[in-house]
Amino acid sequence: MIKVSDIKKDFPIFERQINGNKLTYLDSGATSQKPNQVIDVMSDVYKNNNANVHRGTYVLSSETTGKYEDVRTKFQKFINAYDSDEIIFTKGCTEGFNLLSNSICKNLNQGDEIILSEIEHHANIIPWQMAAEKYNLNIKFINVDESFNLDIDHLKSLLSSKTKIVSIVGESNISGMLPDIKEIVTIVKSKSDALFILDGAQLVPHRSVDVQDLGIDFLCVSGHKMLGPTGIGVVWGRKELWDSMDPVYGGGDMIEEVYYDKATWAPVPHKFEAGTPPFVEAIGLGAAVDYLTNISMNEVQQHSDSLREYAKNKLENIDGLNIIHSLSKNAGCTFAMSIEGAHATDVSLMLDTYGVAVRAGHHCVQPFHRKLNLDATFRATGYIYNDEEDFDILANAIEDSMKMLK
Ligand code: PLP
Repeated sequence: MIKVSDIKKDFPIFERQINGNKLTYLDSGATSQKPNQVIDVMSDVYKNNNANVHRGTYVLSSETTGKYEDVRTKFQKFINAYDSDEIIFTKGCTEGFNLLSNSICKNLNQGDEIILSEIEHHANIIPWQMAAEKYNLNIKFINVDESFNLDIDHLKSLLSSKTKIVSIVGESNISGMLPDIKEIVTIVKSKSDALFILDGAQLVPHRSVDVQDLGIDFLCVSGHKMLGPTGIGVVWGRKELWDSMDPVYGGGDMIEEVYYDKATWAPVPHKFEAGTPPFVEAIGLGAAVDYLTNISMNEVQQHSDSLREYAKNKLENIDGLNIIHSLSKNAGCTFAMSIEGAHATDVSLMLDTYGVAVRAGHHCVQPFHRKLNLDATFRATGYIYNDEEDFDILANAIEDSMKMLK
């Protein structure tokens, strides 16, 4: 079982006071806090090893190259990929979707279809909209039902031989919804030859993910939401798919031979990693993977489940608080909330006076907010360094704010 008081000691930020209160950080859905283990590894590389990767023949460069490439293997094990070469480093989940949409869509035919869901993050909408406009493709959206889950019958009705891509969120960043990915992949593959892409931005930090078991084709991940630094992410894809795809960015490190009029590409993964990669950030991500692995992802998942249960009961007991939350037994510890007559930004400003950090806005899920007739919500998300007391403090602060905002 996770002992939050021990975990907190690894995170220097929790020594801070905010507006005279202890910090109650409930915005890990936006970005997680960083443990000393990640911060120290990165500063150690800058102090002792720093040299560009894949270029030098000298000690420092081979040290950083070794550390950088080791993270590929670490991440392969973390998500049970078939091969470490399937791990492509990006600067985040968003870049992952842009890479995939640019590389895949140019080989599709006019009128081909992409299926997303109504509750996707903009990172999994806009890149497809841009590609759809460029290559004359159509986008369809799976309905989300009253329990804030995907309508699987609607998905079935959308699938056809024209469907070439299905890309959906693994854990919703507003409702905590956890779609049954295995079931969905089976349905998609039985009714189409579409590629299945999973948005792992919220899922991978909170639950153990086995890409082979899920049967998916690609997975996009953000490092900074899973205790790692900013500026680093991963796209995993099956090797034979990467081999058949064209690179999106050109430059150094991604080539085999360059002539004045043409070039040939380096093998995967380097084909997709043009230029100097964020190698120190990748090494920091490796330390984050070690940190989570040492706790064990099963423990992380159990903590998320029990904290969610506690938080759900606590928040549901607040009169007049509207919660957008998956009604399923299983869901992430994420709660988007609204209060009639009070703007989400005002609520979050009030909560800040109690030292409570939550996010206000549409959380990059604007079409779904629009569907619910909401322009904004305030959102609390729990992670490994949060405990029941954090949600008690949140609930009390919400109740006080409601009295003051009336
Ligand atoms: N997908 C989901 C579900 C998210 O919550 C986020 C970030 O909030 C993203 C994608 C995009 O991640 P990033 O901004 O780190 O690229």
